[in-house]
Amino acid sequence: MVAPTIDKEVMQSIAADFCGDLIEPGDKSYDDAREIYNAMIDKHPHLIARCANVADVIAAVNFARDNGLDLAVHGGGHNGAGLAMVDDGVVIDLSPLKGIRVDQAAQTVRVQGGCTWGEVDHATHAFGLAVPSGIISTTGVGGLTLGGGHGYLSRKYGLTIDNLIEPDVVLADGRLVTANASQHEDLFWAIRGGGGNFGVVTSFLFQAHPVHTVYGGPIIWPISQAEELMKWYRDFIADAPEDIYAWFGFHRVPTGSPLPEALHGHHGCVMTWCYTGPMDKAEEVFAPIRQLGDPVLDMAGPMPYPALQRMFDQLYYPPGLQWYWKADFVKELSDEAIDIHTEHGSSLPTELSTMHLYPINGAVHDVAASETAFSFRDVTWSRVIVGVDKDAANATHLKQWARDYWAALHPLSAGGGYVNFMMEEGQDRIEATYRDNYARLVQVKAKYDPDNLFHVNQNIKHRT
Ligand SMILES: Cc1cc2nc3c(=O)[nH]c(=O)nc-3n(C[C@H](O)[C@H](O)[C@H](O)COP(=O)(O)OP(=O)(O)OC[C@H]3O[C@@H](n4cnc5c(N)ncnc54)[C@H](O)[C@@H]3O)c2cc1C
Repeated sequence: MVAPTIDKEVMQSIAADFCGDLIEPGDKSYDDAREIYNAMIDKHPHLIARCANVADVIAAVNFARDNGLDLAVHGGGHNGAGLAMVDDGVVIDLSPLKGIRVDQAAQTVRVQGGCTWGEVDHATHAFGLAVPSGIISTTGVGGLTLGGGHGYLSRKYGLTIDNLIEPDVVLADGRLVTANASQHEDLFWAIRGGGGNFGVVTSFLFQAHPVHTVYGGPIIWPISQAEELMKWYRDFIADAPEDIYAWFGFHRVPTGSPLPEALHGHHGCVMTWCYTGPMDKAEEVFAPIRQLGDPVLDMAGPMPYPALQRMFDQLYYPPGLQWYWKADFVKELSDEAIDIHTEHGSSLPTELSTMHLYPINGAVHDVAASETAFSFRDVTWSRVIVGVDKDAANATHLKQWARDYWAALHPLSAGGGYVNFMMEEGQDRIEATYRDNYARLVQVKAKYDPDNLFHVNQNIKHRT
C-alpha cells in the first residue's frame, strides 16, 4: 500500500473546505482516478481533488497555489500528451460537474466543465440542436474547446470556439470571472485556442445550431486506390458547399470488429462524411461520390447526429490504448505530399494506427486569425498521424512510424500543429502554432496567471 504524500495537517486545510472527494495514493479509488485515455501516460499525483462544485474548484486552486504544488486540470482526460495528470502534484478533476441546460428559444446550451461531447450531443439533440465539436463522443468539452475544436460541423458552423459565447473561469488567485465580448475581453480572446493556460473553466455557454438528422458515415476504398482518391478529395473539399464535410484517412479494419469479417485487417483509405443539407437531396449529392473507385464498404446514410458522433468510440477507439500523436496544419496537398502519404499510409504499423486529414476551411475561414488565439485559419486541413495499439510492447515502434511519417511531410506543411493533437514537443512548436498571436497570449498570461500556476498544458511562457 502506497502512503499519502501530502502532510496530514496540510491536507486538513483543504479537507475542511471541500464537498467532493479528495483522493490520495493508497486510497482504493486512486488508480482508477488517475487513469486517463492514453495508456502510454502513467502519472502519480499527490492528490486528485474531485470537485463537486465551483467552490471546490476555488478551494483546490487556492490549495495548490498556497502550497507551491504543481497543478493539472482534468476535463475529459482525453489529451494525447496526458496533460490532465501531473506527477507529484494536485489534479483538479472536473468529472462530477455534469450540468447541461439547453435554452431552446435562444438556441444556446450551458455546459459544466466535466461534460463529454456525447453528453452535450444527447442533451441538445432532444431539441434538434448541436454544437460543433470533435469526432469521438467520449472527448471532454474542456480540453477540446480550449484548444479550438474541429469536427463534422466545422465547415458549416466554424470551430467550437467560434460558438463559445462565454466561459466562467476560476483564475489563479481564486476569483471566479465570466469572460465574454464585453467583460474580460482579453481573457475571452486568449481562452479561445490558448488551452488551459488562463484558469479552470467551470462552465461554457455555447451557441447551438439546428442539426438533427445528418447523412453521414464512412465509405472505404482499397489502399491501392489511395492516390487517385486523395487527389479527388483534395480538389473536392477545397470549394465544396459548406453543408458537406469529409475527413480523409488511412486505416485498417480491426480484427474482431463488428464490420464484415472479410474486411478484417483490410488496409484501406476512408472518407467519413457529414452532410447537413436538405435530406431529400442527399442521394443525389452522394451519387458521384459512390462512382469513385471501387468502394469495399459504404456505411454512409441518414442517421441522428449523435449516432455519427458515437460511431468510432468503441469500434476503433475505446479508452486504454497506447497513443502517439504527431500533428501539422496543411494548406496544400501537392502531388509530392500525396506520394509520401501513400507510401507511409500503406504501411500502418498496427491495425489501429491511422492518419486523418480534417478540413478546417469553410466557415472556419470566416473568422480572422487575430480574432481568437487560434491562429491557423488560413489553411485547409488539420492533419494528425497517430500510432495506436493495445499492446504497450509496441510503443517504440508506433512512435518511430509516426515520427518518420511526420518528418517526411512536415517540410510540405504550413508549420505549427493543432495544440490538441500534440505531445509535449517543446516551446518552439508551441510558438510556431500560435504565430503572431503568441505575443498577445504572453501578455494575457502575465495579467491573469503571472506565476504560471496553470502550466500543465501547451504552456504559454515569456520569451527569454
Ligand atoms: C480519439 C480522439 C479523437 C479526437 N478527435 C478530435 C477531433 O475530432 N477534433 C478535435 O478538435 N480534437 C480531437 N481530439 C483531441 C482533443 O481535443 C484533445 O485530446 C483534448 O485535449 C481533449 O479534451 P479533454 O477535456 O478530454 O482533455 P483533458 O486531458 O482532460 O485536458 C486536456 C488539456 O485541457 C485542459 N483542460 C481540460 N478541461 C479544462 C477546463 N475545464 N479548464 C481549464 N483547462 C482544462 C487540461 O488542463 C489539459 O491541459 C481527439 C482526441 C482523441 C483521444
